[in-house]
Parts: sequence; C-alpha cells; structure tokens
Amino acid sequence: MTTTPTATRIGVLTSGGDSQGMNAAVRAAVRTALDRDIEVFAIYEGYRGMVAGGEYIRKMNWNSVGGILHRGGTVIGTARSSEFRERPGRLRAARNLAERGIDRLVVIGGDGSLTGANTFRAEWPGLLAELVQRGELTQELTDSHPHLYIAGLVGSIDNDMYGTDMTIGADTALRRITDAIDAISSTAASHQRTFVVEVMGRNCGYLALMSAIAGGADWVFIPENPPDVDDWEALMCDVMRAGRAVGRRDSIVVVAEGARDRQGKPIKADYIKKVLEERLGEDTRVTILGHVQRGGAPSAFDRWMSTLVGCTAVDEVLAMTPDSESMVIGIRENRITRYPLLAAVEETHAVARAIEAKQYDQAMEMRGGSFSDAFQTMRTLVRALPHDPLPGQRRLRLAVMTAGGAAPGMNTAVRSAVRLGIDKGHIMLGVRSGFRGLLEDQIDEMNWTSVSGWNNAGGSELGTSRYVPPEADLPTIAETLRRHSIEGLLMIGGWTGYEAAYRLAAAREHFAPFNIPIICLPTTIDNDLPGSETSVGADTALNSIVEAVDKIKQSAVASFRAFIVEVMGGYCGYLALMSGLASGAERIYLHEQGVTLDDLVRDVEMLNGSFQNGKRLALMIRNEQANRIYTTKFMQDLFEEASGSLFEVRQSILGHLQQGGDPTPFDRIQATRLAARCIEYLAAEAENEQPGMAMIGLMHGQIEYTSLLDMANLADMTTHRTREQWWLSLLPRVNMLAQQGPHGRAEA
Ligand code: ADP
Repeated sequence: MTTTPTATRIGVLTSGGDSQGMNAAVRAAVRTALDRDIEVFAIYEGYRGMVAGGEYIRKMNWNSVGGILHRGGTVIGTARSSEFRERPGRLRAARNLAERGIDRLVVIGGDGSLTGANTFRAEWPGLLAELVQRGELTQELTDSHPHLYIAGLVGSIDNDMYGTDMTIGADTALRRITDAIDAISSTAASHQRTFVVEVMGRNCGYLALMSAIAGGADWVFIPENPPDVDDWEALMCDVMRAGRAVGRRDSIVVVAEGARDRQGKPIKADYIKKVLEERLGEDTRVTILGHVQRGGAPSAFDRWMSTLVGCTAVDEVLAMTPDSESMVIGIRENRITRYPLLAAVEETHAVARAIEAKQYDQAMEMRGGSFSDAFQTMRTLVRALPHDPLPGQRRLRLAVMTAGGAAPGMNTAVRSAVRLGIDKGHIMLGVRSGFRGLLEDQIDEMNWTSVSGWNNAGGSELGTSRYVPPEADLPTIAETLRRHSIEGLLMIGGWTGYEAAYRLAAAREHFAPFNIPIICLPTTIDNDLPGSETSVGADTALNSIVEAVDKIKQSAVASFRAFIVEVMGGYCGYLALMSGLASGAERIYLHEQGVTLDDLVRDVEMLNGSFQNGKRLALMIRNEQANRIYTTKFMQDLFEEASGSLFEVRQSILGHLQQGGDPTPFDRIQATRLAARCIEYLAAEAENEQPGMAMIGLMHGQIEYTSLLDMANLADMTTHRTREQWWLSLLPRVNMLAQQGPHGRAEA
C-alpha cells in the first residue's frame, strides 16, 4: 500500500453492543472529516476488522454514508474481538492502521471499547517500534505517526457512562421500553393484571427509573438504590394493595436486570411475580424486553445528538497534540461537552464498584442530582394515596391549568403537579380551558385518582385555550381567584398562556387576588419561550416530524423527487432546524435567517446540479413562517418550473400531527421534573408578602426561575419568540452536513 506518510487520516469504528444513533455519528464523523479535507476510513466490524485489516478498512466518501441516518444499529458493523484484548492482536491492528497512515480514531462504543482504545493508545509507540524491529514497517513511516489520537463517543443503550448526560442509543431504548409499558398497561388494565417488566441495565438503573416515571409504573427496582427495608416484599405489596383499593386497574413493576436488595442478592422478575401472586393473589405476568430495546429506528434525539457529537469528535481528534489526553465527546443539557476518556471510564467503573461494595448512597451520589431527584419523585408518584398532612402544615389552595396551544406532555405535568401537591398537603384545583376557565369559573377540586392514566396521554384533559384576558376581563378573573381563595397558580402552557400569566402579574398592584405566586411551566411544541432552552412537547413534535419525513422519503423510492416539508413553530425555527439536522435535510428555511430571492436561485441551481449528478431524493424543511411571500407552494412551483423534467417537486405540510401524539419519555420526564419544582416554588413563595412570579425552565443545564415580569425583555412580543435561541449556533453544522459533497462539490 502506498502511503503519503504525512497526510492526516482518520479511522472511524463502532464497537461492542450496537445502539441506535451510531449511524448518525458515523455519517457526521465521515462528512466532517471530508469537509476538513481529511481522508477518512471506516473500520468495519469494530476491533475485529482493525485486527483483520484488508477489506475491513475502507476509505469513505461523502455518499458512502448517505441514507443511513434513520437506520437502527450500525451499517459499518460491530463485533466483539477477543484478539484485540491481547497485545498480539493489537500489534496487528497497529500495523493495519500505520501502513494506511491512520493515526487518529473516532471510536464509538461502550466503556469496554473505550478502555480498549485507551490501552491501544498507550501502547502505540511500543507496538510501532516492535513492528519496525520485525521489519514489518519502515522507520520513516512510523516516525510520521508517533502518536495515536483518540476521541470516544459513547454508544450504549444503558446510559451508563460518566462524562455525558446521555449515551448514543439511550433515548431510543427508553422510547422502546416506554412504548412497551404503555401497551402493557392497557392489557393489564383490561384484566386487572400485574406485569413485571425487566429492562436492561446491569449496573445502571437509568432505563428502569426513567421508563417507570414515563410509563407511570407502580414500583421500580434499580441497582444503585435497593429497597431500604429488608422486607421490601411486604412494603411493595402494601403499596400495590392500596393502589387496588383506590381503583387502580393496572399494576406495573419495572425491574432493571441488575436490581438487587440491600444485601446484594439479585431481585429477579420471576421472584417478584411469585411474591405478588402468593401474597396478593394477583394474576401476574413477566415480560423481559431483551433485544427489542436495541431495535428499531433511532429517535430524533439520537439522530441530532449523535450527529453533533460525531462532528465534534473529528474536530477534537484533529486538534489533538502529543500532550492531549484521549477525550470522550458527550452532551450535557443540550451542549456538546468533552471529558477525559480515562477519567470517564474510571468513574463509570467506580459506580459499579460502589454497587458491588453495597455503598448505595455513594452510587446514587455519583449518578448525579437529577437522577436522585427523579428517584424521589418516583417514590412519591407511585404511592396510591398521599401522605397525611403533618400537624400545623399550611395547606394551600393551588390552581393548575393548561393554556395556549395543545402540546404533548400537558397531562403528564398536570398529573405530577396534582399528585405531588396533594402529597404535600395542598388542595389542588383544576381550571378548565386555560384562562377562559378563570373567566367563566370552571374550577374543580382534583384528587389523587382524578389524574389516573394521564401521564401518557397526548392533548390536554383539562382543556386549553389561547384566550389572553383583555384588561376589561381582569376584574372578573380577580373575583374568581378570590372566590376560590386561590393562593398560587401553576400555568402549564405555551406562548399565549405565558402572555396571559404575564398580564395578571403586571396587574398585581391593581388586583389583590393577583398578588399570589404564579409559575409558568413551558409546554409547547414550538420551543419559543423565554426562560427555558427546551419546552415540554418539543421532543414529541420533533419525533413526529422525523417519523413523517422517514415515510415521505420512503414514498419516493423509485422516483426523482424533491420534497418541501413545512413544519410548525410559528416564527421560531427550532423544529425546522432540529428536524433538518435529525433527518439530513439539504436545506432548511427559517424566519430567523430569512429567505431571499438569491437564496432561492442558489437552491434551484443546487437542486438541478445534484439531480444531474444522479441524486434521487432531496429534502428541504421550511418553517411555516419562514417568509410571507415565498410560501411552500410558491417554492414548489418555482423549483418544479426550473427543474425541467429532471425531477418532481412535492410539498408536504405536516400540520396538526405535530401537536398530537403521546408524549415521548423525554417530555414526560421533563414535565414531571418541572412540575415537582413548581409545586415547591408555589409553596415557598406563598410565604412571602410579595410572592414570586416566575417562568421555570432548563437553562444551561440547571432548573432556573426567571421573573415573569422579564418576559417582555427576554422575548420579542411581536414574533412570539425568545430572543436567546441557543440552537441557532448549530446552523453551520447543519449547512456543512447538508452539502452535496465537501465544500459543496458533488463527488464523482
Ligand atoms: P462495550 O464497548 O459495549 O462495553 P465490550 O466490553 O464487549 O463492549 O468491548 C468491545 C470490545 O472492545 C471487546 O470485544 C474488545 O475487543 C475491546 N475491549 C474491551 N475491553 C478491553 C480491554 N480492557 N482491553 C482491550 N480491549 C478491550
């Protein structure tokens, strides 16, 4: 093989267990490398292919990673390699890389694969020296590749790696599990049966805990935090019995495969079934989900997140110098982060060791605050009935409503707020139809069971409206609040809900009943609200779009076709940009960027050029308000007219399917987390003379409260969108990946 010794070459491999989203990472890594004019090789079948060499190591071009974004698993294959575990195997791997001039690797795998990569890196100089000694490589060649550089991406459905909030595949696995729990719940309810569902996770309870919250399960067992009593069987049976007594028809127990009791004895699904059957006489079934969790198309998150980490890994590995440590590229609350690989692996093993040593407090602590929070919230939510109020505890009358456009996750938030509120001793009042319900006095007290089954239903059971009270209606609303002695208001909703709450807040000096704590929980598919980087509902809408686009693309198998898909979002381009990133769109049109005639002319040329080069399918995503004149129909006609007979152009306006649908686990979990904090906020602020009025949200990775009175400063009240749109910084990545080839040149 001829090699230009000094050229930089990157190898990309997937290794260990496969996970959904690996393809997105491979595609992004390959295209980023090519865009940087770097030659890139896929190493097929993981380390096995690296040891075998030959056809297993193949040079990639722009199109070799086309059409893979939506596919589950990994198209470049993954394997386990016992040879690579031993030095002789790694010696052959080193030779195969060095003779091709590859000395930078993007390794996508679990902690085993990343540990192996690190060992390989440490041994690299020694391995190369040995190969020279044996006469297998020349000194000149090895001199030009003295170091091996590694960027790791964590591909693992378990979400068990330190250094990243989410691993590639965990979100999709969580969806598979939650879908299964939803399906099981309905059959369980029909027969009044109990189901024990075993999910993956030997040392990590992430999937079990989060699917239990998202699926509204009744009990969960995780490795990090075994039941705190020895006779957990009795405790579990008491809670399940109480659930039946208040009318619960379905019972679900989720158990992680590595669950154990305090003494370290495994808790297995069959044993739980036996306990429930013997002690409660329950008809109990066991479902072990197994490989279903690894299967199927990746979720929207696993497509966009994996794409971003794939891009970053290449830039990282190219920027490395001999002093650089190997890095893991991950994500922390929407931001791509880097963390030293060795430390990430060590910390990951430390959690497993803590569990083994029965140091459960330490294991929970190492999982982080939001994991422990989630566990506590789960504990409260599973109770069939609330705690009795403590003597002397203040019982507040708190109103909860949904307002603005319907969004998936509204019901989940209401359910959590009502149950957590009641559990803290408060009286929870449900307001129907948003602020209109305050005007028309549609208010009822809610109890524990009035929200049963609400956690996974789309839409809004309370009803919602876009009504924003004009000044003339404020006295009536004030009178309603006074009549019901409402001492706090939780508004779960989108833009108009925020606007209405803001009106009340701004008028508090004139109406005493408005001088109560008010909190807004961001729930809208548009993700346009101030005070939060992500709103509940947006993830569901993004998944609906991505799934629809998958089908639209499939419909065009045998034709030459360009699609313009119009998505919602009002004036906010979040859905358009993120779905463009997740579905590999050629072009996105946003109101934030504007659309000019020059852009359209360039797009006509781009489309004609690429179809002439053999392209069969093009996808453009247009935000509904991208431009008033250049409508979706206009663009379709323009592109069609200019295409000659080269290709057809079709438009698809996705419409309300984006607002419907059952909330994704991510949206359910966010809704639950935020609702819990909202209740705490209302209770705390009710003690103040000037109670706070806030917008809750996730900002820079933390739950934050922003003053509601700042809304008009933080948002553009005409276009209805927040001024700070963090995701706009992703535009260059989207544009880079959407090119026809490096630097826009189509490849031959
Ligand atoms: P995962 O990467 O999903 O954790 P494994 O633990 O099976 O999966 O690791 C995948 C491959 O990585 C192994 O088959 C082996 O080739 C390599 N590997 C794992 N651990 C090591 C190690 N300690 N040293 C060298 N190679 C390793």
